[in-house]
Amino acid sequence: MSEPGHSTGGGPDGHRETVRYPSVVLVTGAAGGMGAEHARALARRGSHVHLADVADCAPVVREITEAGGRATGHALDVTDPAGWRTVVDAVRAADGRLDGLVNNAGISRRLRFMDTTEEVWERVLRVNLSGPFHGIRAVAPLMRDSGGGAIVNISSISGQIGYFSPSYSASKWGLTGLSKSAAGELAGWRIRVNSLHPGLVGTGLLAGSDTFVASARRSIPAGRLGEVGEVTDAVLFLLSDRSSYMTGSEITLDGGLVASGLYHRILDDAEGAL
Ligand code: NAD
Repeated sequence: MSEPGHSTGGGPDGHRETVRYPSVVLVTGAAGGMGAEHARALARRGSHVHLADVADCAPVVREITEAGGRATGHALDVTDPAGWRTVVDAVRAADGRLDGLVNNAGISRRLRFMDTTEEVWERVLRVNLSGPFHGIRAVAPLMRDSGGGAIVNISSISGQIGYFSPSYSASKWGLTGLSKSAAGELAGWRIRVNSLHPGLVGTGLLAGSDTFVASARRSIPAGRLGEVGEVTDAVLFLLSDRSSYMTGSEITLDGGLVASGLYHRILDDAEGAL
């Protein structure tokens, strides 16, 4: 296990041989799905993980602590700026520092343009875009006081292409822009901000969409959905000092769907004929 906050010098070629992870990290939407897996993986690497969710984080916190890790749960609706301040105050009181944030909480409403009501539009934008905005504003001063940190915003390939559901796509495009804006503003405080863009990953978010998922799979050059652990690996990379010169960047993790899913599907439909 690598020590959090600890990194030995370079190897013979000057490259770092150990990886440094945040010593204290906050993960939203960590009661289940991918957020819970990110929290487990960080705890295994020695981070004190603060898990925040509208759902009950206690089972995941218990699991982590029983495995010898350090974890604390917080009730947080990411749309509530005052709630964010309360959580950050609690982190400051407990640890006196914070050097990682994963803005992972998100919701999806697979509704086409004319089926998207004002209520759905407002709600999805509030959770997926305003939530991370409130979060970055809330944590940045504590990260600055901690000597810097890394923020990972979980966007989606829907934030890189024209996904059919306007609320989800616009919220994730907005999050891509928010990441780049914050990266520029917060670099002076040694805070890096990057966005991660998973394609389809089998979690509760995709519940009830088997036909959609089966059809989407035909466009994925890798021929399969992503695994939660593969997304966690990218989160760990962006939080660690392995990505120390990356900020305002995007990592796409989609089995090639955005890059060449279109022609993969066209050739499949044409049975390979050119
Ligand atoms: P999930 O539905 O399994 O988990 C989401 C978590 O967020 C839940 O624990 C939920 O309680 C929490 N949450 C929802 N609203 C909240 C709020 N207002 N405040 C605090 N917590 C809240 O989803 P997942 O698949 O694990 O998705 C995690 C992230 O990854 C989301 O941002 C999602 O948009 C993104 N993503 C998922 C996929 C996929 O295929 N599953 C693909 C691309 C991006």
